[in-house]
Amino acid sequence: MPVTSKFVALKNYIPTGLPKETDFEIKTKEISLDTKNNILVLNLWISVDPYMRARMTERKNYKPPFNIGEEMEGYALGIVKESKDKNFKEGDIVFSNFGMRDYFVCNSNDLKKIEPMNIPLQTYLGPLGMTGHTAYIGLFKHGELKPGQTILVSSAGGSVGSTVCQIAKNMGCKVIASTGSDEKVKWLKDDLKIDHAFNYKKIENLVLHLKEICPEGFDLYFDNVGGDFLESAIYKMKNFGRIVICGRISQMNATNPGSGLKNMAHVLVKRLTIKGFIIFDHENDREQFETDMAKWLLEDKIKFKETVYEGIENTPKSFIDLLEGKNIGKMLVKI
Ligand code: NDP
Repeated sequence: MPVTSKFVALKNYIPTGLPKETDFEIKTKEISLDTKNNILVLNLWISVDPYMRARMTERKNYKPPFNIGEEMEGYALGIVKESKDKNFKEGDIVFSNFGMRDYFVCNSNDLKKIEPMNIPLQTYLGPLGMTGHTAYIGLFKHGELKPGQTILVSSAGGSVGSTVCQIAKNMGCKVIASTGSDEKVKWLKDDLKIDHAFNYKKIENLVLHLKEICPEGFDLYFDNVGGDFLESAIYKMKNFGRIVICGRISQMNATNPGSGLKNMAHVLVKRLTIKGFIIFDHENDREQFETDMAKWLLEDKIKFKETVYEGIENTPKSFIDLLEGKNIGKMLVKI
């Protein structure tokens, strides 16, 4: 003690457009235990998530903007290196919101102890973590998915989307998956056994394509992307269908506000339900999810793929690459 902590900071806000590596900086500072912060943790895995993009602008959102020049936050898994708290000891594995850095000091209120199961530790940032929880709550609580229904999933080769696809498939649903590369299509079809997967970047007319591959239409659309894709999906919904608005990644870096949905008449005529949700509102609604997901993972009913960048210095690149679709499954940084 003291220890040098290396962290990622935002250099400036990024109101529109794709972030650049020069918008970030890697900084260091000396940290040490004190009476308030009496646990030292070294992160092992850092979660990289699209929602962080919203915190890089000064606009009001469900989480405040990151502070310029200070540590960015995010979910992480670490190992306790030193503790003066009787409930934590050296070697304990902990979950926190102190991502985007290697070492940090905190107190017991900031940490959740993880009792590792027979699955890779980083699963707690993927299917057993926030993205799995999002898939589960989105499908059951907001989507009200029923066995045998037909579901369309966008960004299906990513962390939330691939979990949604697999849960729905395990329920006996017909799953149609959209993703942005042939490699992701292959994974969805060959490994996850999804009924139909396509590369949206190769489709000229999405409405016609959806009609061709699924003439009966969709009971549920799990929307991770928003924009034109959402508008196309609305055309192909069944009467009384449901659309869960989980994300809007196609709009996150937009340089203009776009034209908005032009087919709200279909929402009316088909009596559709469109429902947005934020997973941070469901923190107290985790028990059933954790029980079910742990069981599915141990039974190999949910498979997990990850894209891993090494070292804190590569965190800005991992974030930009996530927004550009270079990940398959969960984007992670390994420290
Ligand atoms: P992903 O693992 O799905 O990674 C993001 C993916 O978005 C990229 O891989 C890329 O895949 C896709 N993408 C990027 N740009 C576009 C575009 N212009 N059009 C279509 N797809 C694009 O991330 P997550 O699984 O972590 O998150 C998925 C979605 O869920 C995001 O929108 C995120 O904001 C949202 N989310 C919402 C939560 C909530 O509480 N409501 C909680 C967690 C996540 P591709 O190759 O397919 O283009």
